[in-house]
Amino acid sequence: MTKETEAQLTGATPRRKPKPDIDTIGGRRLKPATLMMGHGYDPMLSEGSLKPPIFLTSTFVFENAAAGKRHFEGVTGKRPGGAEGLVYSRFNGPNQEILEDRLSVWEDAEEALTFSSGMSAIATLLLATVKPGDTIVHSGPLYAATETLIARILGRFGVNFLDFPAGATRDEIDAVMKKAAEGTVSLIYLESPANPTNALVDVEAVAASRDAIFGNGPDAPPIAIDNTFLGPLWQQPLKHGADLVVYSLTKYAGGHSDLVAGGVVGRKALIDPIRLMRNTIGTITDPNTAWMLLRSLETLELRMTRAGENAAKVCAFLRDHPKVEHVGYLGFLAGDRQADIYRRHCTGAGSTFSLFLKGGEAEAFRFLDALKIAKLAVSLGGTETLASHPAGMTHLSVPEERKKALGITDNLVRISIGVEDADDLIADFEQALAAV
Ligand SMILES: *Cc1c(COP(=O)(O)O)cnc(C)c1O
Repeated sequence: MTKETEAQLTGATPRRKPKPDIDTIGGRRLKPATLMMGHGYDPMLSEGSLKPPIFLTSTFVFENAAAGKRHFEGVTGKRPGGAEGLVYSRFNGPNQEILEDRLSVWEDAEEALTFSSGMSAIATLLLATVKPGDTIVHSGPLYAATETLIARILGRFGVNFLDFPAGATRDEIDAVMKKAAEGTVSLIYLESPANPTNALVDVEAVAASRDAIFGNGPDAPPIAIDNTFLGPLWQQPLKHGADLVVYSLTKYAGGHSDLVAGGVVGRKALIDPIRLMRNTIGTITDPNTAWMLLRSLETLELRMTRAGENAAKVCAFLRDHPKVEHVGYLGFLAGDRQADIYRRHCTGAGSTFSLFLKGGEAEAFRFLDALKIAKLAVSLGGTETLASHPAGMTHLSVPEERKKALGITDNLVRISIGVEDADDLIADFEQALAAV
C-alpha cells in the first residue's frame, strides 16, 4: 500500500492533503454540472481509482496520541473548526466529506452536512436549535412527519410553535412574527413548495420580516427551508434570504428511488452546532449511501432538466383533457400572488404536481389502477414516474377539516414525472383517463 493511500484510509496526522480543486479556468468559474465529476476527490490518494472507493470502516487510526487528542478537541467543540482528520465513522468519513463538498457547490454554500434521512436531517437541525420555552415560527402545511416532529414530539419537551399559511403576505407574516416575538423565537422554518399543496412561500418577505422584527445579527432566529421539491436546480433559497436549506436527498438529489438520505447546507457558523448534534446522536449518512449519492449528483442536472421538460409536456396535455378538472402545476401559475413569488424565487416548475380529476375517489382509483408506465407509489423525484392518492394514502390520518383546508380532496392524484419519453407518458395518461 502506498503512503498516499494509507493517509487517505487512516486520516493519519499529518494527513496528506489532496491536490487543490480546480474550480476556475481562465477566470471562468466552473459550473456545478462540471464539478460533480471531480470536486473534493484526488484519485492519487486512492491508488488512482477514478471513482472514490467506499470506505467501509468504523474507525480511523491516529498517527500518535497527541494527534488523537487534537482530533477530539475538534470533534467536541473544545477547539473551533471541527475535526481536522477522520476519527470515527459516527462523525464523518471520506465518502461523506466528498459528498458534502459537492452538495454545497450547487448553492454556493459554505458547508453541507448529510444525514441518514431527510427526517433525521430535520430532527438534528431542530434538536441543535431549540430549547424548552422557545417558539418555532413555521409556514404551513409542512411534510406530515415534520409537523408531527414540531407539534407533537418537540411539544412534549415544552417547545411551542406558531404558523402562517404558505402563501401569506408580508403583513400576515409580520403579524405572526410579532406575536411569536413576545417569547423567544429560536427558528423560522419554511417548506416551499409545500407538500402536498405546492403552495409557495415568499422567502424574501419572510427574511425582510425577520430582519425588521428581530434584526439580522447573530442572535436573530435563522431561517431554514425545506427545498426538497425544487432544489437545488430550480430554487436556491440562500440567495433569497434563507440561512439554512434542508433536503430529503431521497427525492431528486438521489433520484433513482434506491436510497434514503438527507442534507442541510448553509453558513459555517450555523452548520457547526448541527454537526455537533449529529456527532452526538449519529444521524450521519452511511458510506455506501454517500457513494450512491455521489453517483446521483453527476446526473442531477440532466435528470432534473429532462423530468422538468417532460412534466411541462404532460401537464399541457392534461390541462385540456375533458376528464380533468384542474392541474396544480407551478408552470401554470398566472397573475396572482403565487405567480409573483414563483417569478422571484424559482427558475423552473419542477416535475411534481397535483391532478384533480372530475369526480371523486372512484374516478381517481380507476385512473391510478389503469396506469401502465407510471407506478403506483408514494415519494417523488426518481427516474420513474410515480402516482399516488394523498387523501387515501400519505394524508389518510389527517382530520377531514384540515384536509379540506389544504385542498386534499378525493379526486386529487399526486404525480411525479420521471425521465421516460414524454410522448410515452402522455400515451399512458391518455389511456388511463379513457378507463375512468
Ligand atoms: C420526503 C420528504 C421529507 C422526508 O425525507 P425522508 O428522506 O423520507 O426522511 C421531508 N420533506 C419533504 C418535502 C419530503 O418530500
